[in-house]
Amino acid sequence: MGLVMKRYVNLREITVKEPLKVDTEFSESVLDLPEDEVVRSTPFSLHVEIYKRAIGYNVRGHIKGSVTLRCSRCDEEYQEQIDKDFSFNLLPTSEITEGQIKRGELDVKFSDEDVVDLSEVVREQIFLNLPVKPLCSETCEVEGYREWNSEEKDTRWDKLKELKEKLDRKEK
Ligand SMILES: [Zn+2]
Repeated sequence: MGLVMKRYVNLREITVKEPLKVDTEFSESVLDLPEDEVVRSTPFSLHVEIYKRAIGYNVRGHIKGSVTLRCSRCDEEYQEQIDKDFSFNLLPTSEITEGQIKRGELDVKFSDEDVVDLSEVVREQIFLNLPVKPLCSETCEVEGYREWNSEEKDTRWDKLKELKEKLDRKEK
């Protein structure tokens, strides 16, 4: 089977014997990432496999692409590669109250929809992999700190000069 460009999958078509396997790609405009967090992005490729389980489905796969972010220190734009595996279980909302979720089963999503928008899956996985505090490089923080430190020294020096001038004036 070749590459199937697919955005929507119908869970009802998936049986225990026939899991769904899709390779597809989404452009920046389809992903619609918020501009205040992501400056721009490359198209993202998605490999996804959906398995029917006794209750719900297991969704697993891989996303790959890169996003341009703004450094939280120096405000410069930089690229962040995202090349990640993911796996979560999709359960009907009735399971929330049934209490059948095992401990440690953290990656669970609830939905009663029959149709899954795969671009939503990619968007969510991108968000999960965005850094809380974007940094263009590991040393950027250190440089920023040094800058801040030297600024403080400068103002201290100015204050000393000011004080010295005042004293000089008093002496006259
Ligand atoms: Zn930076």
